[in-house]
Formats: sequence, structure tokens, C-alpha cells
Amino acid sequence: MKNITVVGSGTMGSGIAHCFAQYGFDVHLVDLNEDALKTAIEKIGKNLERQVNKGLLTAEDKAAALGRIQPFTDLGVALTSADLVVEAATENQDLKAKIFQQMDAAAPAHCILATNTSSLSITTLASYTQRPEKVIGMHFMNPVPVMRLVEIIKGYQTDQATLATIEDLTRTIEKVPLVAADYPGFVANRILLPMINEAIETLFQGVGTVEAIDEMMKLGMGHPMGPLRLADFIGLDVCLSVLEVLHNGFGKDKYAPCPLLRNMVAAGNLGVKTKRGFYDYSENPKQPTPLSF
Ligand code: NAD
Repeated sequence: MKNITVVGSGTMGSGIAHCFAQYGFDVHLVDLNEDALKTAIEKIGKNLERQVNKGLLTAEDKAAALGRIQPFTDLGVALTSADLVVEAATENQDLKAKIFQQMDAAAPAHCILATNTSSLSITTLASYTQRPEKVIGMHFMNPVPVMRLVEIIKGYQTDQATLATIEDLTRTIEKVPLVAADYPGFVANRILLPMINEAIETLFQGVGTVEAIDEMMKLGMGHPMGPLRLADFIGLDVCLSVLEVLHNGFGKDKYAPCPLLRNMVAAGNLGVKTKRGFYDYSENPKQPTPLSF
């Protein structure tokens, strides 16, 4: 495996491109316009610089990694020599279905098609291609250069050779592949999101304050970040959409999103990205103020 195309250069795509380039792969990074790509490459440069400052990379390593990333706005051109494509575009079923059709039409026959989706069915995305055995989930965690887990999702038709190749590749970039089957939420989000939802429900019922809930999970359970702060970090809209996937997929009340979460999303209080969620980030984003509910 030599050439890896990453589709979408946002939060996740830029991190995925960074990691593959750092470990010597030629990366083609694709987005809809030049501005998005320019922003992504600047961000990758800054993050590589941080690794240089920590003594993890040399200045030459940084320059070599950046030199291995080529930006593209034309998906077809980007894919001509791809051995693997990792799709990390916006989380939307129709958009991803269209991108999978385009990737299947343009990529060489041997190319594996992976997606970084947090919640959509790998098996359904594979059904838009003529190579479902070569379609797989590669669910990186945010921030990608720091987090070591990659949840590998085996679609209903993914074959053993594709799975083994992607597990090996994940180890090559010094991350840990752990395999999940293709059911709603896979493993990581199926466990994480009900916990976050329960923390919101606990707040909604007045059982504890934002501070009490988060500190209890930190001090009592050893979590590095409380569930409400984590929800703000993930984005409350993203939390709601993953819970809806779980609720619709399993049809069980235990996954029903808390009404408070629905109200906050409807009001546009989405967490860190809008500076307001369970905390107020407008004064000091690193030490936000817990809000009252
Ligand atoms: P983002 O909004 O930061 O980036 C998405 C990028 O995709 C944007 O730059 C957008 O311009 C681009 N895009 C949209 N349509 C495109 C197209 N047709 N061709 C090329 N590029 C296109 O989103 P993100 O947070 O990076 O999420 C990307 C994927 O990763 C989603 O599937 C999401 O569920 C998943 N994910 C996100 C996180 C997270 O914490 N943010 C964690 C794990 C997985």
C-alpha cells in the first residue's frame, strides 16, 4: 500500500491525512474547494510543528510529511493511483452514498474503500458499489494524531483479506485496530452515547448539577473528562444524531434522546463549536463555566 486518498479535509480528514503522511504514505487529500484544502494543510502543518516542539519528530520529518500531501478538488483525478481511500466527508447518508458510487467508479479495481462514519451502516454504503467485499469502516477517534484507537467495522460482505490488510495498516501507523460488527453505533458509540444521554437525563431531572455530574465521573470513575463536557466537545448535534441512529436501529426506548438534548440542539447550543452547551466557552475555552439548568 503506497497511495492513500482521503476524501473530506475537515476535523477528521485532516488528522487522517496527517497520520498517513507522517508514516510515509503518499496522500491525496480531497475537498470541495481550494480554501478548505488550504485551511486543512495549514492545520496539519501546525499539528506537525507541535510534534516537532515535543521532540517527537524532526523538522525534516515535518517537511517530508507535508511534502507527501497533495490537495485535489477532483475526486476522479485524485483516485487514479489509489490503493486505499478513506472517506471522511460530512456525516450524511445521501452524500456518502453518492461519494461511494463516485469512488467505486473512479478507483482502481484493487483499491479498498473505507469510511470514517461514526454511525452509518457500512453494509448499506457498500451496496452502492460493485465491490462490497472491499468496503470497510475505519473509525478514527478525535483528535486523530493523538488517539490510538481505530475501530474497524466489518460490513456484512467485507472479506477477510480486506479486514487483515486494514488491521495491518492501522498497526503500521502505530494505532490499535479493534474490530466491531456492523450494527448501529458499532461498539464505541453504542456504549458511549447511552452514557452521555443518561448524564443529560440526570441533569434534566435535577438529580445533579453539571459540575457534580462531570466531577463524579472524573473523580469516581477515573474518566479524563466528564460526560457533559465530552458531549460539548463531540457536538450536541452529533450526539443527537448518533442516539437517533441507535433508537431507530434497535427500536428500544433506552436509546431515546433526552428532551433536554433535543431542545439544546434546536436552540443552536451545540457545545464547544458554538461556545455554549452544558458549559459557556466564551470567556475561557480551556476552563469553561458550567451552566445552570
Ligand atoms: P467536518 O465537517 O469537519 O469535515 C467534513 C469535510 O467534508 C468538510 O471539509 C466538507 O467540505 C467535506 N466534504 C463535504 N462533501 C464533500 C464531497 N462531496 N467531497 C469532498 N469533501 C466533501 O466533519 P468531521 O468532523 O471531520 O467528520 C467527518 C466524518 O468523520 C463524519 O462521517 C463523522 O461522523 C466522522 N467522525 C467524526 C468525529 C468527530 O469527532 N468530529 C469522530 C469520529 C468520526
